[in-house]
Amino acid sequence: MGRIVQKYGGSSVADAESIKRVARRIARSRADGNDVIIVISAMGDTTDELMDLALQVSPQPKSRELDMLLTTGERQSAALLAMALSDLGVDAVSYTGSQAGVITTPTHGNARIIDITPGRVEAALQQGNVAIVAGFQGVSQTTKDVTTLGRGASDTTAVALAAALGADYCEIYTDVDGVYTADPRIVPSARRITQVGYEDMMELAACGAKILHLRCVEYARRENVAVHVRSSFTDKPGTWVRAHEDISKDSTMEEAIITGVTHDRGEAKITIVGVPDQVGEAAAIFTAVAEKDINIDMIVQNVSRLSDVSTDISFTLPMSDGAKAIRALEEIKDRVGFREVLYDDQVGKVSAVGVGMRSHPGVTATFFAALAKEGVNLQMISTSEIRISVVVGVDDVDRAVRAAHTAFGLDATQEAVVYAGTGR
Ligand code: ADP
Ligand code: ASP
Ligand code: MG
Repeated sequence: MGRIVQKYGGSSVADAESIKRVARRIARSRADGNDVIIVISAMGDTTDELMDLALQVSPQPKSRELDMLLTTGERQSAALLAMALSDLGVDAVSYTGSQAGVITTPTHGNARIIDITPGRVEAALQQGNVAIVAGFQGVSQTTKDVTTLGRGASDTTAVALAAALGADYCEIYTDVDGVYTADPRIVPSARRITQVGYEDMMELAACGAKILHLRCVEYARRENVAVHVRSSFTDKPGTWVRAHEDISKDSTMEEAIITGVTHDRGEAKITIVGVPDQVGEAAAIFTAVAEKDINIDMIVQNVSRLSDVSTDISFTLPMSDGAKAIRALEEIKDRVGFREVLYDDQVGKVSAVGVGMRSHPGVTATFFAALAKEGVNLQMISTSEIRISVVVGVDDVDRAVRAAHTAFGLDATQEAVVYAGTGR
């Protein structure tokens, strides 16, 4: 008898029939004698549809009201799942994030969990219920308002609850058989990874592998929660995400140099042209952007050898922050004295990730040669100890991912299965 947190993503509960299918699966876990806590996402594309609706009503909806609206998606599926379980003779109670004690910062749209006080969930479990918690949401104790934790963040709710409730592990149920060496929708020959360390998984998530929310992996690492990513459509084992030292050493396979290839089409590139080449200019530019709470990613600056008076600075940022960043930069343009700001959202980032590359030279050369052979032009390059990322034209992304995947010897002979529809 154990205690398990299970999270079901939107693609696993897309319609009434799927909710009943998931309920049968939960009933089996409960019948095995486990305490079961469920974290549920909104059904299918509900969150996107609610967002579209908001934008039809108001082009720039107030973030507080947007959170009030978006949190209803998870509330809906939580209540429906409780009904389906009850019909199977399983006692279940649904809770909003706030009722479940998910306490967050007051920031709307991207709040962070700062504490979990799961008194009601614990009491429900003690009374023999399955506790169902609406994912992706919480409440701020300072503003008393409902918040959301960012797109895809039901994963984070699940791991945070697993840590707070002392669960044995956290299962993330989705529409693929686990974490793959690339997105199986783009690379059908992608290979399922049986076990992956937190560090690799964090980098994969940060570079666009949307199978797990980044903060969920950060949380799991901090609290040492083992996460099992698997399909809700089969009983196959998936991918275990755990500390590197806990990964079983019985495997005779040599550690891979590259764990996976990821892509991200959600970023845009800003180029500031003609920045005076003097001390303090970069500081002024990035302070203006930071003051708007915008996270920047890659930065490239190169003083032109031809002109010794000015330089261009390019950086990438989430596309959703593009307009805000342009406004902030236009405001300081005359003071800083640069010439113009260019914006390009027809780009994508492709990354090769792997802790194994620390001790292996030549990874960059293999990556760039594979892209060159495909005729892919590199607009920006950035590297870390365990990652190489490039920015390419958006139409080159798929080809670049496939070419790199093959070049690193990651192709499997079997095709990966995506069980749900196309999703958004
Ligand atoms: P859920 O609705 O269960 O939260 P998501 O759509 O958020 O599901 O995440 C699952 C999807 O993530 C898969 O369908 C797959 O297309 C995509 N994906 C991207 N990168 C990877 C990867 N490296 N391994 C597995 N899936 C990936
Ligand atoms: N429903 C939310 C989203 O679509 C949260 C989640 O599914 O994890 O982003
Ligand atoms: Mg998800």
